[in-house]
Amino acid sequence: MAPTVRARVLVKPRTLEAREFARPTIGRDDGLLRIEACGICGSDYEQYEGAQPAHQDYTPYPVIPGHEPLGVIEELGTRARQRWGVKEGDRVAVRSGYGCGKCEACARGEPMACPRRGGTYGYTDVGKPPYLWGGYAEQMYLSPHTVLKKMDPKIPAGVAVLFNPLAAGLSWAAAVPRTGPGDRVVILGAGQRGLCAVIGARAAGARQVVITGLGRDAAKLALARELGADATVNAEAGDVVAQVREATGGGAEVVVDTTPYAPQSLNHAIAIAVRKGRIVVAGLKGMQPAKELPVDDVIYKELTIRGVLSMPVDVTFQAIELIEAGRYPFEKMHTSSLPLEQAEDAIHMLAGKIPGVNPIHLAIVPGAPRVDWRNT
Ligand SMILES: [Zn+2]
Ligand SMILES: [Zn+2]
Repeated sequence: MAPTVRARVLVKPRTLEAREFARPTIGRDDGLLRIEACGICGSDYEQYEGAQPAHQDYTPYPVIPGHEPLGVIEELGTRARQRWGVKEGDRVAVRSGYGCGKCEACARGEPMACPRRGGTYGYTDVGKPPYLWGGYAEQMYLSPHTVLKKMDPKIPAGVAVLFNPLAAGLSWAAAVPRTGPGDRVVILGAGQRGLCAVIGARAAGARQVVITGLGRDAAKLALARELGADATVNAEAGDVVAQVREATGGGAEVVVDTTPYAPQSLNHAIAIAVRKGRIVVAGLKGMQPAKELPVDDVIYKELTIRGVLSMPVDVTFQAIELIEAGRYPFEKMHTSSLPLEQAEDAIHMLAGKIPGVNPIHLAIVPGAPRVDWRNT
């Protein structure tokens, strides 16, 4: 076994460095995960760019990024084994938030609600022992109050790690807006979370599901139809609000905004929502404000606008079970797995910064063969 663990450290914005760390010593309450895959999302790009607001829970730099880890338990303390109900060799999906372990929220398995704050994988100071606090690494430390769940090892790692965006889709398009059979649901943005929101809205029994995308997103919109969308809208083919109103026959009860770096999408969502509509805002805007927000429309229509950052534990577990059930073609959603050495390429690819490359979902898989992105 290698005496050191290879990782990527974000030392400052746009600077991801290769570093090696000593393999940590595991006690009775903690464990060590061998990373099989770490999913990446829009927030990885914002973290990389330094476009995230200072936040009491987050250490901006230096950190090992990677907050969507999936792996195999390599080492486990005796008490951790009991608490988590897993053993060495089990594949587990790991939640990004870990708690203090002493409060009521941690006892409920909701470390995100922990008032004393543990931390978040991918956002914990790399100077804090035992250093391996993120998924862009061969191994990750499992703090005692990690929330994890066993997952079927037969599913390819890049597909299994979709549990994170799928949990977001189930939460944001179904549970949070309380979507029901009478609701028309409009999803803005056809990235991994937008597509997973189609599944969430459909599973909630929505009357109609409409999703928007850009001109280059034709393949993503076709997949959206396969996943259950009734109609798709190319937001660049004309006025997006007018096109959506036409597709829905006047607007929607639920609007889910997953578009990254597009603050005006909130104005669109307000225009699309019908009276008493619920708007769920999920796509971060890189700290850019929305302009000319029609506040009076929010009041006249009595809209609910709800921001979402994470998902409850039970929905994460539902997402894991849904992937294991194999009812949806999740393999079509996973575009590529890239090795640790290409973490930076993966971030740029996902953010659409490489011309001609438009992946849906990417994962960092230590040891994976290099991906020539020009052929992706
Ligand atoms: Zn994420
Ligand atoms: Zn706590």
